Amino acid sequence: MRYEPITVGGFVSPHRFTDRFGGVSTGHLSSLNLGFSRGDDRENVLENHRRLAKAVGYDVEKLVCTHQIHTDTVRVVTEADWGQGVFHSPAPECDGLVTDVPGTAVMAFGADCTVTLLEDPVTGAVGAVHAGWRGTALGIVAKAVDTMVSAFGSRREDIRACIGPCIQRCCFETRSDVPEAMLNALGDDARIAIEDHGDGTYHVDLVDLNTIWLKRAGIVEPWALPYCTACDTERFWSHRKVGDRRGVQAGVIVCTGGKMP
Ligand SMILES: [Zn+2]
Repeated sequence: MRYEPITVGGFVSPHRFTDRFGGVSTGHLSSLNLGFSRGDDRENVLENHRRLAKAVGYDVEKLVCTHQIHTDTVRVVTEADWGQGVFHSPAPECDGLVTDVPGTAVMAFGADCTVTLLEDPVTGAVGAVHAGWRGTALGIVAKAVDTMVSAFGSRREDIRACIGPCIQRCCFETRSDVPEAMLNALGDDARIAIEDHGDGTYHVDLVDLNTIWLKRAGIVEPWALPYCTACDTERFWSHRKVGDRRGVQAGVIVCTGGKMP
């Protein structure tokens, strides 16, 4: 089965949410595994990155990747960081990257966790943010928006955001720790994202929760894609469904310099 590449109509910057297709990795990493720590052959991962860069339209030498550790750390990256996480490893630990340096591509990874791409078409600033439930409870997407405002002078009403493929409410069953963390972080607003089954299990909606954070940060109308990684393991890697024997997909967006109306 062939799928169309996953892009967001509202973004003007080149970008992509990847799935499993289009790379050279084999077996359970087949085929577009973008992670160097998944047990894949390094040359295969590099070739996957080269193919993705060519398809999206950026220089792979100017790519900067997160080194994710489930925090709310957002890094501002420049040309001094080009190649981090790809040609220079490991990259500094962080779960979000933002930049306003033209030519720079920023990438965050997920295999159930949310990846959110951000774009300010006026300043040209872009961002990529990873958030599982811990990063969601910490509100890292809002902190990435705040960083674009403070570092680049972005206006909140100009910033666009889209949450990509992730484990959706249908498949994200948890114990009480996850909903408790969300209620502590967001108060009663979090209740729309929590289904209490009354038996100690819950279903939690990471898309709704990150949407709340983005709206609180001033994003007018955050977007979210409908793909559930755990429902469709032909197309996506899902940690919840297959454990550690998996590759990783990503969201990537490229700073072009901005000044769009
Ligand atoms: Zn699902």
